[in-house]
Amino acid sequence: MQRQLNLQHEGRYFDLRAIFDRLNEKFFRRRLRGYKVVWGRRRKQRPKEYFIFGTIQEEDRVIRINPRLDQPFVPQWFLEYVLYHEMLHSVVPDEVGPDGRRRIHTEQFYRREREFPRYERARRWEEDNLARFLR
Ligand SMILES: [Zn+2]
Repeated sequence: MQRQLNLQHEGRYFDLRAIFDRLNEKFFRRRLRGYKVVWGRRRKQRPKEYFIFGTIQEEDRVIRINPRLDQPFVPQWFLEYVLYHEMLHSVVPDEVGPDGRRRIHTEQFYRREREFPRYERARRWEEDNLARFLR
């Protein structure tokens, strides 16, 4: 029997669906429709240099959050910030820079990102705790 655990939104500590719905209502006027929000697959190896907290695949409308965030030392507001960041990608358009490359983290994106009420605190927490997610 095969168990599909990789598409679940309910973790041990956090329910991504509940958080997504709250953020969607509070900050996006429920504009994000038909999105799945799931914990990504657990990997045995911890990354060394950088850590990907979340991703969004707009074609399939899937937001994946790194399952290492499903831990009791992670504050809910930090997880909310990670989700907010990914959700923002679905409403802020990409831009093409002077070098012809597509940019997703645009001025407008960063401006909107800073509107997240705990933005500063979340960035500081990320800096202070990043080592706990890396090897
Ligand atoms: Zn991003």
